[in-house]
Amino acid sequence: MENKKQCRSSAVRQQRWNRPGVCGLDNSGNSCYLNAVLQCLCSTVPFVEHLLNQDTRKELVRSKCRVAEVFVRLLEEMWMGRSSSCAPVEARSVLCSILPQFDNDSQQDAQELLLFLLNALHDDLIRVAKRQKCSSMRQQRRAQNRNCATAAVESTIVTHMFEGQLSYMTLCMHCDHQAHSTQTFTVLSLPIPTDIIKCSIQDCLSLFFEQTTLSGGEQMLCSVCGLRRETAVLTCMDKPPEILMLHLKRFGCKGKNQVKLRTNVFFSATLDLTPFLSSSIENTSYSSYCLYAVVNHIGNLNMGHYTALCQNTLTQTWHCFDDSAVREVEDSLVQSPNAYMLLYSREPFQKPKIHGL
Ligand SMILES: [Zn+2]
Repeated sequence: MENKKQCRSSAVRQQRWNRPGVCGLDNSGNSCYLNAVLQCLCSTVPFVEHLLNQDTRKELVRSKCRVAEVFVRLLEEMWMGRSSSCAPVEARSVLCSILPQFDNDSQQDAQELLLFLLNALHDDLIRVAKRQKCSSMRQQRRAQNRNCATAAVESTIVTHMFEGQLSYMTLCMHCDHQAHSTQTFTVLSLPIPTDIIKCSIQDCLSLFFEQTTLSGGEQMLCSVCGLRRETAVLTCMDKPPEILMLHLKRFGCKGKNQVKLRTNVFFSATLDLTPFLSSSIENTSYSSYCLYAVVNHIGNLNMGHYTALCQNTLTQTWHCFDDSAVREVEDSLVQSPNAYMLLYSREPFQKPKIHGL
């Protein structure tokens, strides 16, 4: 009788909840950094859609992709909206098994974890893509009766959505010789201007993209001079990512001491990247981004707590995820001096097409 009553009341509670994509995550011992990151990825709608696609899921099982499989099951639970919170126990244990550095109860860096997690998911999805390509090559080979090289696959939904590219122009200060190079990025780690109490995210971006001069031990080898020379470096973005992830370098050094910079970095719901884009990008639709998630860090270097603020694409409302506690917040409360990571999307998210939603 008692059990039945409990079941009924829990069913009532679950019925009442019914908020797809809004699900708190229980803390399993200092795991707030993991929870905050998982919430941000759960709000990245096109990424979730791709992973929850039935074909992708079947392939993940066939290719024995443990990290992605567990992550996808968790996303499904969070998007079905049946309960106000769930326990990411399996996700944590599978992550700890491949990333032993996270297998303890100490506070970790959310940004580092996000990069590790995306890498692990990318590796799993590469396995799926290779398996698919191999099987289609085998079919072709049979048809054409010849041998094929090993399948080479480099891109996945992870690189497609989160990867951008920076371009560097270096200028020898002695002979004016110019050289160009590029580098892909997933997160832009932005410096915060020092000795001020407030600035804007544009100030941080300007500082990141500011022209620098490499001198002394940092001088670069000039191919024309054949010597190490003082070199000017100009950085710009020549491939803006679909999802722009900005990380504020709040943890710095002051003399010998590690300090947390508490500068209030102002950001708005939209971000214009035009000033930082390479002149070769003509399409202006590339420059405007909408904010959809924020990771906050409160406290200091050793004793801190992470929370996430994410916009739900179905209701267009913001929620604060503090481990298992979830509350709706006014748009005006998204801005805070605790912002540590900002996630922007180039396209506003549509209502998610998820099986069973
Ligand atoms: Zn030179």
